[in-house]
Amino acid sequence: MKNLSKNLIGVILILFAVTATFSLFVEMNADVPKTFTLNELASKINGGEVSGVTVSGNELTVVLGDGTEAVSRKESEAGISQTLANYGVDPEKLRNVELSVKDPGGFKYWMSIIIPSLLPVLLMLAIFWVIFRQAKTGANQAFTFGKANMKLWAGGKEKTTFKNVAGLKEAKEELEEVVDFLRNPKKFLDMGAKIPRGVLLMGQPGTGKTLLARAVAGEGNVPFFHMSASEFVEMFVGVGASRVRDLFETAKKASPSIIFIDEIDAVGRERGTGLGGGHDEREQTLNQILVEMDGFERDTNVIVMAATNRPDVLDQALLRPGRFDRRVVLDMPDLSDREEILKIHSKGKPLDGVDLRAVAVRTPGFSGADLANLANEAAIFAARSNRKKVTQSDFFDSIEKVLLGPARRSRVITDKEKEITAYHEAGHALVAAGLKDSDPVHKVTIISRGLAGGYTLKLPTEERRLKTKKQFLADLSVSLGGYVAETSVFGDISTGSSSDLKHVTETASRLVMQYGMSEKLGPRTLGKHHELMFLGREITAEKDYSERTSEVIDAEIGRFIGKAFDAAKKIIGAHRDALDAIAKILIEKETIEQEEFAALMESFGIRPAAIR
Ligand code: ADP
Ligand code: MG
Ligand code: ZN
Repeated sequence: MKNLSKNLIGVILILFAVTATFSLFVEMNADVPKTFTLNELASKINGGEVSGVTVSGNELTVVLGDGTEAVSRKESEAGISQTLANYGVDPEKLRNVELSVKDPGGFKYWMSIIIPSLLPVLLMLAIFWVIFRQAKTGANQAFTFGKANMKLWAGGKEKTTFKNVAGLKEAKEELEEVVDFLRNPKKFLDMGAKIPRGVLLMGQPGTGKTLLARAVAGEGNVPFFHMSASEFVEMFVGVGASRVRDLFETAKKASPSIIFIDEIDAVGRERGTGLGGGHDEREQTLNQILVEMDGFERDTNVIVMAATNRPDVLDQALLRPGRFDRRVVLDMPDLSDREEILKIHSKGKPLDGVDLRAVAVRTPGFSGADLANLANEAAIFAARSNRKKVTQSDFFDSIEKVLLGPARRSRVITDKEKEITAYHEAGHALVAAGLKDSDPVHKVTIISRGLAGGYTLKLPTEERRLKTKKQFLADLSVSLGGYVAETSVFGDISTGSSSDLKHVTETASRLVMQYGMSEKLGPRTLGKHHELMFLGREITAEKDYSERTSEVIDAEIGRFIGKAFDAAKKIIGAHRDALDAIAKILIEKETIEQEEFAALMESFGIRPAAIR
């Protein structure tokens, strides 16, 4: 509305200017026109002062004897002689006056006719034009659901390139090839190679899928159309499909180009599983994507990239040959990748002799996004304590913050609670120290973070992809350490063990049912587990065994837990003095770091042993 009035004012101003110019023009032409009434003219003629009269339409131009000009008007109904006669001009005198009749015409004449009649029309047209234009934008806004709301990444000021992406070597190589395809399709076509149509980036959240796609946009000098799959789907049915059409059409026009569909699982879920609810709109959108990809000619230089952290739920049709046949897996970063990522994200932050490698060592299982967050938190820590540089301990403190949430030092706990928590954590730590297959303890603390009352941080000494039965058992035993310590010290148990117990139960049942680690049940899996492979979470478990087996499973789970429990009990029973010592330090100082803990265990002669 604001726009409309602004435009209207503009148009009116322009029209004013035009009319003003014209009237000026007309004025100027009629330089110093003395105007006679017809009476005056008649008496002048009778007085012999007039030498000539020129008639043009109804206008009379009078030339006086001294050569000066004047104007007058006659009536339109009568001729000039008639008019003058009517005003009593002597016919004798009139004969001395040179009468000439000029055709009414010429620019000025026509303008004088056209402008007054045209002006309102012009004005109306202008107003209509403005209103229509306004209405059209309004209507466009109302009818743009069908249009893809895609973004074109051209790089911009802060261009993301492969340099900004640490690690992910294979993924980068794969994508470099894709960019090369687009830059120089002929090279590949001449070799009879088919240009890939779809590249699927798969990886856990925060592994850098979106970042990598941005880097491809920055690397390749091709238009890059970016859209999140959830944007396809709106309230209105059919919108998604039409947005897909629009997206592909635009990309094809701009070819060679790249289309990037982020979070494609939002539309690409397996159809008809009931997973996430049957959604007609999503199916239509997915179908349209498939149709568009199939419709590519051999030489269509458009590559579709998509990202997902749920490849397991993707519709098989998307994974069929000819669609997303290039799959790029983005792994969680390993030790040196983590160091690289930390380096990238601490650029521009003033570091005070920080050993990023040491930070990387303490952050197994952190994704790229976690590490970026970690570096940022470290800088915030330093800034909050008004320091000029970021230190190693800023980084270490941030690890726990990213892992477990901010420390809640202010949480009021009673002395009794503090004692229970201290013994609980001491139990975990002591059992970990006493078991050969457990990860070494990095830190024990009773400062609560997030939901945890306190925690014992154990970290593997090296990157691990496999975990053995012995390690699982040690893990179970350490998890039960808190529970065992509480019972043996206080003869009572608190709710503080509930999450430990949950972990223990879940792990033990997995050992038996999924990993075939129970000797009694043998090397088989039990139950069909539809696992979300990247999230490692189960959603459904179907029973594919008899009731009798079910009882054996229960017994075996119980046996595993019992074995771990006994091991924990044995260590804590044998080293009650060490348990007391750890708990005492925790009550005093709240935290014990790795070196101090190791020295303490050494002084009690605790050596890691295997579970028997
Ligand atoms: P995804 O899309 O896989 O969930 P993102 O690409 O959005 O993850 O990553 C989130 C952030 O994490 C990125 O913006 C970047 O700052 C950081 N990050 C993730 N992986 C890397 C990496 N390999 N190198 C550098 N930074 C990374
Ligand atoms: Mg993403
Ligand atoms: Zn615990």
